[in-house]
Amino acid sequence: MTDYKNLIDGEMVDNGEWLDVLNPANEQVVGRVPACGKDELDRAVAAARRAFKDWRKTSQEERQKVVQGIAAAIKDNADELFRLLTTEQGKPHAQAQQEIYGAAGLAAAQSTLTLDDVVNQDDDQRLSRTRRVPVGVVGGIVPWNFPVMMAIQKIVPALVAGCTIVLKPSPFTPLTTLRIAELIKDVVPAGTVNIITGEDNLGPMITEHPDIDKITFTGSTATGKKIMEGASGDLKRITLELGGNDASIVLPDADVEKVAEQLFWSSFSNAGQVCIAAKRVYIHKDIYDDLSKAIAEYAKNVVVGDGSQQGTGVGPIQNKKQYERVLELIQDAKDNGYKFLTGGTKDPSGTGYYVPITILDNPPEDARIVAEEQFGPVMPLLKFDSIDEAIERANNSEYGLAGAVWTKDTDKGVEIAEQLETGTVWINEFMHLSPFSPFGGHKQSGFGAEYGIDGLKEFTYPQVITVKRDAVV
Ligand code: NAD
Repeated sequence: MTDYKNLIDGEMVDNGEWLDVLNPANEQVVGRVPACGKDELDRAVAAARRAFKDWRKTSQEERQKVVQGIAAAIKDNADELFRLLTTEQGKPHAQAQQEIYGAAGLAAAQSTLTLDDVVNQDDDQRLSRTRRVPVGVVGGIVPWNFPVMMAIQKIVPALVAGCTIVLKPSPFTPLTTLRIAELIKDVVPAGTVNIITGEDNLGPMITEHPDIDKITFTGSTATGKKIMEGASGDLKRITLELGGNDASIVLPDADVEKVAEQLFWSSFSNAGQVCIAAKRVYIHKDIYDDLSKAIAEYAKNVVVGDGSQQGTGVGPIQNKKQYERVLELIQDAKDNGYKFLTGGTKDPSGTGYYVPITILDNPPEDARIVAEEQFGPVMPLLKFDSIDEAIERANNSEYGLAGAVWTKDTDKGVEIAEQLETGTVWINEFMHLSPFSPFGGHKQSGFGAEYGIDGLKEFTYPQVITVKRDAVV
């Protein structure tokens, strides 16, 4: 077991109080991290505030060099990092590898983003331009499903925009992030990036801290609402990336065999613990029987197990609380007599938070397992008659994160996409996020955006400077 320290003001430090971190595959302690409170937070915020004075004045090139250094540190240590990520998060090695390389790629790509001045007026009377100025010290709060990706997607745009950051990983998955902290300690100027760990109660201290200017948060909608409330005291800027209950709509012209495999992974990748996973799959009645059979057949060959073992396709649920929630939803479906194509039982092995691949055959629309975000290896297949009906059912959710349409007729796919009330819609693919396109939720899936220029702007204020040309002075 290793102790992982926090990064505050350019130093790896601890406070002598520790939190245990478990491996969800076997419930063994795999590491300890500092249990921080107000004192450590104050020190981290003060360091970020001091560092902001110089960092805000750096050129785009200087920022780019630092961020590229972060990308290189992650990439050069990818082998160690993805194994550690599997150990604390549970995801299979191949998926952990994707996350690590994805985070390095995101950092490299986003280092190239720039926010140029915009000229509003340039005539005899005045020259007016809008520039973007960094908001200041950012508080970043991230969840446990993609701990590294989420940390990087907060740290990188903050630095590129000229802000400094205090980041809090989830208490369930802080290890890989703190190892990255150690790797980048001498890459980033002291105080620009601070990473501190603690229980959930550290979150509200960040949200309410008077010397933090902006909160960027990824996590549940319930916590997002608390953050909005906490940040309202001093009107902090906020970006909230929250929950989703994404619908996939499969039209009758879709190729059953090909779509079956893709649909499977759109629901079961990362054991379904993905905000943009397909959590409701609407299939046209003409292909419902064939496609549901093909998905269930495909599922038979996917191994649920320890993510560090070769051949595992679906790992454990990341933590006990979420494990119990997913089992509760499955039990509710059983109690209501809904039909299961696979799964629906508890793993008998005893240790590890394993949930069998669970596919439901056309449960009612108001079933809890359909209406709520499952965030586990659960896929309700739902039959529809007409496209208008599918669109209406897909939109019948408090969430509005993403969705997908599967069809050979891509024009039709786009026509449907334009009627979906979500921030992102894919035609014939899923979960693809570009570093250059904005990603964010409609309705209760979020507030603001990440990625791309829109995401970068969220770390800045607009400032308009106007020079009166014909002034009499
Ligand atoms: P969570 O809301 O329980 O926790 C997220 C983070 O918030 C953790 O670091 C936690 O310690 C902290 N936190 C908890 N209570 C807090 C409070 N009162 N104030 C401030 N911070 C607090 O979420 P989770 O269970 O870790 O993650 C799963 C959820 O995240 C799912 O709903 C999922 O859909 C969502 N998610 C969304 C996206 C997206 O981009 N939209 C991405 C990944 C996950």
